Amino acid sequence: ATPTAIMVGVGKGAENNILIRDAESLELAHKVNALILDKTGTITEGKPVVTDIIWNTTDANASAVLYALERQSEHPLAEAVVSHLQEKNVKAVSLQHFESVTGRGVAGTYAGSSWYAGNLQLMQDHRVVIDSDIAAKAGALQAAANTVIYFATGTVLLAVVAIADKIKATSKTAIETLQRSGIEVYMLTGDNAHTAAAVAQQVGIKHYRAEVLPAHKAEFVKELQRAGKVVAMAGDGINDSQALAQADVSIAMGKGSDIAMDVAKMTLITSDLNSIPRAFKLSGKTVRTIK
Ligand code: ADP
Ligand code: MG
Repeated sequence: ATPTAIMVGVGKGAENNILIRDAESLELAHKVNALILDKTGTITEGKPVVTDIIWNTTDANASAVLYALERQSEHPLAEAVVSHLQEKNVKAVSLQHFESVTGRGVAGTYAGSSWYAGNLQLMQDHRVVIDSDIAAKAGALQAAANTVIYFATGTVLLAVVAIADKIKATSKTAIETLQRSGIEVYMLTGDNAHTAAAVAQQVGIKHYRAEVLPAHKAEFVKELQRAGKVVAMAGDGINDSQALAQADVSIAMGKGSDIAMDVAKMTLITSDLNSIPRAFKLSGKTVRTIK
């Protein structure tokens, strides 16, 4: 590669909101034939809002504990819960202990009891009882593309929180453009299968996996690489950093976490996924200039 062609490519990228950190990924990007997208914050806005809380308790303290737990988490879902409870003027209690449970949610101790907010796995870990009536309500919310998180103490379910994260207006066309150019697009998410299916269907993604832990996102990259694919990964979160590091071409979405941007070789300083096919095209042009 001539340094001049690379310099021109990097410059063109910068003009188009594509920051390229190393020459190698600029030269490799046009060869990508598998692209993995994280769901939350990448395909979707990543700014979820609470649409409904179904309370299963009359304990007025419960919302204050939920607030205390979620305000210590940096997960976008937690921010949605915090904003919602702030609007309801809920005041936080002070927790004796707090812990973030990777890929599952948050847990803490208050008034000598354990409290947790997170996904169904987290509830199952603690043998929380979810009756059929609540399960049916949660199912209906999920079928409508809401993310459902559960809040419990001990084995008692206290609330079901429905959260919706809008799909970016630009995601569907960007994914279509990529697929038309012969790239297989995959979606990975730590979110549940129902929400994942609803989002995948709405943006036209055929291949997706739900309830994926951060380490498994990286494992999936390896799987595709072993099958001979040149793999690009685009993500925004701390939970994407292992997969970004493993990918042949790593793309951080600009409004994401600093860790994602530190690891990734390319950063899109726009939330528009159409920058990905643009970056691949730019790579092709750069390489042709070199030859
Ligand atoms: P993703 O980026 O797809 O959301 P994560 O691994 O960050 O993947 O999270 C996996 C799942 O764990 C979330 O979809 C959510 O159900 C649950 N979760 C994580 N953090 C929290 C939190 N602070 N409060 C409630 N649920 C959470
Ligand atoms: Mg994410």
